[in-house]
Amino acid sequence: MSLNSKVPNGPIKDKWTNYKDKINLVNPANKRNIDIIVVGTGLAGGSAAATLAELGYNVKTYCYQDSPRRAHSIAAQGGINAAKNYMGDGDSNYRLFYDTVKGGDYRSREANVYRLAEVSSNIIDQCVAQGVPFARDYGGLLDNRSFGGVLVSRTFYAKGQTGQQLLLGAYSAMNRQIARGKIEMFNRHEMLDVVKVDGKARGIIARNLITGEIERHSAHAVVIATGGYGNVYFLSTNAMGSNATAAWKIHKKGAYFANPCFTQIHPTCIPRSGDYQSKLTLMSESLRNDGRIWVPKNIEDAKAIQQKKLKPTEITEENRDYYLERRYPAFGNLVPRDVASRAAKERCDAGYGVNATGEAVYLDFAAAIDRYGKEQAKIHSIENPTKEKITELGKNLMEEKYGNLFQMYEKIVDENPYETPMMIYPATHYTMGGVWVDYNLMTTVEGLYCIGEANFSDHGANRLGASALMQGLADGYFVLPYTIGDYLSDDIRTGKISTDTPEFDAVEKEVKKRIDFFINNKGSKSVDHFHKKLGKVMWEKVGMARNEKSLKEAMTEIKSIRDEFWKEVKVPGEANEMNLELEKAGTCSRFLRIGRTFC
Ligand SMILES: Cc1cc2nc3c(=O)[nH]c(=O)nc-3n(C[C@H](O)[C@H](O)[C@H](O)COP(=O)(O)OP(=O)(O)OC[C@H]3O[C@@H](n4cnc5c(N)ncnc54)[C@H](O)[C@@H]3O)c2cc1C
Repeated sequence: MSLNSKVPNGPIKDKWTNYKDKINLVNPANKRNIDIIVVGTGLAGGSAAATLAELGYNVKTYCYQDSPRRAHSIAAQGGINAAKNYMGDGDSNYRLFYDTVKGGDYRSREANVYRLAEVSSNIIDQCVAQGVPFARDYGGLLDNRSFGGVLVSRTFYAKGQTGQQLLLGAYSAMNRQIARGKIEMFNRHEMLDVVKVDGKARGIIARNLITGEIERHSAHAVVIATGGYGNVYFLSTNAMGSNATAAWKIHKKGAYFANPCFTQIHPTCIPRSGDYQSKLTLMSESLRNDGRIWVPKNIEDAKAIQQKKLKPTEITEENRDYYLERRYPAFGNLVPRDVASRAAKERCDAGYGVNATGEAVYLDFAAAIDRYGKEQAKIHSIENPTKEKITELGKNLMEEKYGNLFQMYEKIVDENPYETPMMIYPATHYTMGGVWVDYNLMTTVEGLYCIGEANFSDHGANRLGASALMQGLADGYFVLPYTIGDYLSDDIRTGKISTDTPEFDAVEKEVKKRIDFFINNKGSKSVDHFHKKLGKVMWEKVGMARNEKSLKEAMTEIKSIRDEFWKEVKVPGEANEMNLELEKAGTCSRFLRIGRTFC
């Protein structure tokens, strides 16, 4: 099959505008006769569903949580980019486009990225209109901060809860349509396969996660907005439920994958503490605005710290190695994530790690506390402030900016980051790879779209911070609503799609067969046993450093874990009830396939 990206002709700056001027439209009366399924109600799916329903289509939405408000998007902390140039520091659509393409190691589709930069400003206006409480400066204007890989401040934020606030905005917009009957919301439903009729996506098979019932749902087009699959590594910063089910299932039905192995390893996560951990926690990149990353300059000091014979605060300035500032003076601590992660691993591999496992570096806020304290003392006309007063004022300001993150760190690590540097280490965070889509966000299956983190479109080999929320909302609020209309304009006479057809029969049968297998297998090992094993192989051999040898070894090892999984997996309980182990078994089987695809 040859891939056609369908990128419009003409100068990059004019493509989207010209495209929108020429596409086919569906008139309001005809929209009422068209159904669209949106699987996933995170920021991408939620914004798409709300907008499509507002336009007049009949939308059905699905999520496996008990409410769209619990999508993984809620975890996003740091912010969302937009080329508003509110700071007057030289930003523009072109610069946002350029930074994103460069940050992605020139592997992104440039036409998509330019469009993303163009609509970025609309996103902020839309969210402000919804009441999203972005941080504001003293004068009441929206505030911005910096993220890695850029030289301007273009990140809009709501303290450390940006994703949550944006999701509440999208959810409110959805709720308006749920109340009007334009969105039918299926909470606690998991899509288990897509149904194609005459080559076009025309529906899904979903499991009601409360009753276990297998259901058929039809539509004229299907949108997949099911997020990323970083949990293939077992430990990641993703929500525990994030999975590859929908992406993998549509792949099996003909939707191509692109760059499956492009995974982002985020530099600032709380280090792993032991073998029984099931989740890793992110410390937002926004902290790198004010935190300085370092390890001891002398290996003896590093060893003493690892053995708890020395405290970081006892190491003098001249004996610290601020290795990012040393190696990358222009960007300093705000280098892109991939660069910061590799540099941390290099220092730890060389023996300079600062916790018992040797897998941590420091993120230190002492200089920022001092700097802000002095500034605050001036602002409040405090003459000759004492050192204690400066520290107090500085800490107060840090609390305003990052309080919830510091509190989260203290709860997990039991150390006070206002007093002693945080320990951080890289961890799996985001999947740039995903389902291949064309300029219209359509996959290689007609009528099957993929948006948000689940697709591969805009971030190349490395996503810059604060640009996932931007992409998800751009896709959902401003791109898909145009492109899907162009496709659906051919469907205005099709009428309702029946679910009582051989195509639905066949896919439902396949889905039930797989569920029956898991329930009846009666093996001896839990799903987590296999998932953990897979995660270990992925991290060690397909993680931050990979080579031909490690990838070949990983392929063999994953195959043997997979063989054992199909023989030995044990799923307690029944199919026709709420059964979390059954859900996990399906997820793990797909992770085992996707893990091998990485290699
Ligand atoms: C800790 C953390 C912090 C982050 N901070 C930022 C940040 O500050 N800025 C930024 O830009 N990005 C950030 N990101 C990345 C960003 O949050 C995600 O990329 C983005 O929210 C993904 O949105 P989404 O709508 O594509 O997917 P999700 O929010 O993951 O939503 C997926 C939806 O699909 C549903 N679903 C999945 N599979 C199925 C299925 N088979 N059947 C039915 N429903 C299904 C789920 O129920 C859910 O509703 C962060 C990520 C993490 C992990």
